[in-house]
Order: sequence, then structure tokens, then C-alpha cells
Amino acid sequence: MMMKSTQFVSELDVDAIPANSSSRFWLQLTEDGFSKAYTVPVIVLRGKPNAPVIGLTAALHGNELNGIPIIQELVNKIDINKLNGTIIAVPGINTVSILDHKRRFVDQKDLNRNFPGNPKGNRSEQYVWNINQKILKKLDYLVDMHTASFGRVNSLYTRADLSNEIITTMAYAIDADIILHNKGKNPIFKTHTMRAEAMKQCIPAITLEYGNPQVYQPKMISRGVNGLLNLLNTLNIYENKDFTSFETPVLCRKSYWVYTDKGGFLDVKVGLTQIVNKGELLAVLKNSFGDIIEEYIAPEKGIIIGKSTNPVNMTGGRIVHLGIIKKQ
Ligand SMILES: [Zn+2]
Repeated sequence: MMMKSTQFVSELDVDAIPANSSSRFWLQLTEDGFSKAYTVPVIVLRGKPNAPVIGLTAALHGNELNGIPIIQELVNKIDINKLNGTIIAVPGINTVSILDHKRRFVDQKDLNRNFPGNPKGNRSEQYVWNINQKILKKLDYLVDMHTASFGRVNSLYTRADLSNEIITTMAYAIDADIILHNKGKNPIFKTHTMRAEAMKQCIPAITLEYGNPQVYQPKMISRGVNGLLNLLNTLNIYENKDFTSFETPVLCRKSYWVYTDKGGFLDVKVGLTQIVNKGELLAVLKNSFGDIIEEYIAPEKGIIIGKSTNPVNMTGGRIVHLGIIKKQ
């Protein structure tokens, strides 16, 4: 099978790429112990120049894979001659951790809590700094794709700062079950997520959570492609009517995790996107002999955004991620 050639580069010179062309790169970020480049795969679809650049990034957490086939399928659907802008797609931005099948980087740091990075910093800080300089700074919009973590599952939801009008438009364009209003920045910490860094640089950005870790989920992938096609259409980057319409998402003004206060074997009784009322049973915790030692109930009305699937829980284990629905 003929494959397109892929160029190794240390910088992405988007302006040098001819209009109406599709290019593939291995972009160098840092180096390994053999002085070999740690590279990330980048697909640049260059449509009309002097038009917006949208970035699509997947697997900043190395075990969160659904975004990779979403990008691969999406770029195959784009007719480059009709593209009113540029798509910079990175189907696997944390190559180090993807190969390790791990969420975290090689130094156990969470890359998505380490932006803006540091050119003189440690391993993860320099890796992040290079993402920031070589990819993020070239964008006018960012869509960063994630999934749940190990031992948990997620609905298809987006984290977005709904105080920003463009970001709100982006969030509604994606075929999400739930939109969670979230500024993406913890005032206590000096470092933050890639989304928060993008917003700091005035790049409208949303985070998408596509289901479960370390798997490909066909339904999530097809909904992901469909939602992104609609987003490109909404932002006037790619006009097309290929996407199918979808249900209006549930809007949450905040969310939090409900945790166990004892150790034991956890059986979560509620499903993803299920709306629960205050006092409704969420989960049962049993000891090794099968006795019920605790029943956990919903502290208030909400929607199940994500939940634990790993029965083995020490005290403080996650039960459900509860979204509090915004009153209309
Ligand atoms: Zn993630």
C-alpha cells in the first residue's frame, strides 16, 4: 500500500506549506537517552491561507486513545480544496506515555497539569514547553481530546468556560452528552492544563472527554468525527452538511466527585448520563465476606458524568462524577 511521505522537522513552518495541500510530519519535541528525537505525528491540512488555524490534539494522557482514530477519520473526510483555514492535527501528542500505556509522563508527572512548561525545567516541563512553543502558539482554536482515567468510564462530555461566547459556541457544536462549565484553572497551582494555557493566550479552547481509557470505542469515535465536522462548519472553517444532527446536551454549572469514606469492594448502581435525585442510591460498598458496609446516596440532584468501574477501593476511592445541572 502506498503511503504518503512524512517529513522529520524540528519546527512547524505552517506558512511555508502550500495552500490546498495535506502534509505529514514527525515533529521533534525533546530527545531520549540515545540522543534520538522524541517526535509527535502531525497532520497539517492547509486550506485557504490567512484564515483560522484549528488544533486538534489527542492523548496528552498516554492511555486516552479515542481521539487518535477520531483525528485519523476526520482528516480523511476533509476535501482540502474546500478548507477555509488550516487544521493542525496531532493524533498522539504524548508519544512517550502512549508507548508506555500510561496516563502520566516518564517522570510520573501529569502533562496536563504542567503548562506552560519550562525550557530549563525537568523532563515533563521541557516536553510541555515544546508543545506550547511548537504547536499551541500556532493556533487560533484548540480542541484537546481525552477520556476517563484507568478504572473509570466517562460519558461524551466537554469542559468549557461558558463565560466566553466563542467557547460556548464551540461546546454546543460538539455532539456532547453534557457540557460542563469549567474555567480549567486552579488558582492554588502555578501550572495548569493545556486548555487553560490556550485561554491565557486568547486561544478559545475546549477539552473533550470521549469515553473510556486504553480502548477504541466505535460509537464514541463516530460521534467524535460527527461533532468535529459540525464544529468546523460552525466556525466557518469547513462548510459541509455531512454531519448528522444530535440531541441538545445537558448543561452543568459545576461538578464534583463523590468518594468512599471506607475501604471495600464497590458496586456502582447508576449509569452514565443517568439523572439521579437527592437521596437516590449511587453505590454499595461490601467487605470481603459480602456484607454491605455502606450505601452511598446522591447528595443532591445531578447527572452522572463519569463513574468508577474498578471495584477495589481504599478509603477515598472515587464513586461517581456528579454534574449539577444548570437551571434554565
Ligand atoms: Zn486526560
